[in-house]
Amino acid sequence: MPKSKNRYNKGYKVLKFLDISEKYGKITYGYPFEKYDVNEHYRGLPKYDFSTCIGCAACGIACPPNAITIKFNEDKSKLIWEFDCGRCIFCGRCDEVCPTTAIRLSEEFELATKFDKSSLIQRGELDSQYCTKCKKAFSTKRLVQYSYERLSKAMLDEKRLQEAKSYLQICPECKEKIASTNITKGEEMEIR
Ligand code: SF4
Ligand code: SF4
Repeated sequence: MPKSKNRYNKGYKVLKFLDISEKYGKITYGYPFEKYDVNEHYRGLPKYDFSTCIGCAACGIACPPNAITIKFNEDKSKLIWEFDCGRCIFCGRCDEVCPTTAIRLSEEFELATKFDKSSLIQRGELDSQYCTKCKKAFSTKRLVQYSYERLSKAMLDEKRLQEAKSYLQICPECKEKIASTNITKGEEMEIR
């Protein structure tokens, strides 16, 4: 192709590009020099709010890659809630199942870290609830309180409410034992 024709073609393309820019406006972003606004449904870093967590473990059960672990510490005095961003796939299951919105997906997407990986971890320690029968730690005080408050709204009479409260403080194994003993005796369930 002759040189002059080639130059003409290039000039034409630039003019065409300017026409398109004028028609559609600016469609690129200045990120990282400008803030990048993500879509409202964007699934960014899950953020944990310890103050509203009740330690129900729903998020840990729902989390596919086990990015959330929930287990008792060595002396069982605390339930340790821990999130490891390095394992998270941002599926949003934790956000969906949390009854208190203690974990919500945020808009944060700048998660790179160089050496200090502690910024990838979020953690909470909840006081354990001990079984009133066998004294074993089986839940958290917050979860028992939360369940009690929910029951209080169920308009139970005071006697039934107190029975339910006592029942909430008994571990599943002891509940089973009480139930089977009462069934053997042919009595109504006695939980006090
Ligand atoms: S977003 Fe998904 S992978 Fe990440 S912590 Fe929540 S449930 Fe787990
Ligand atoms: S589901 Fe919510 S309240 Fe339950 S342990 Fe997870 S963050 Fe805490």
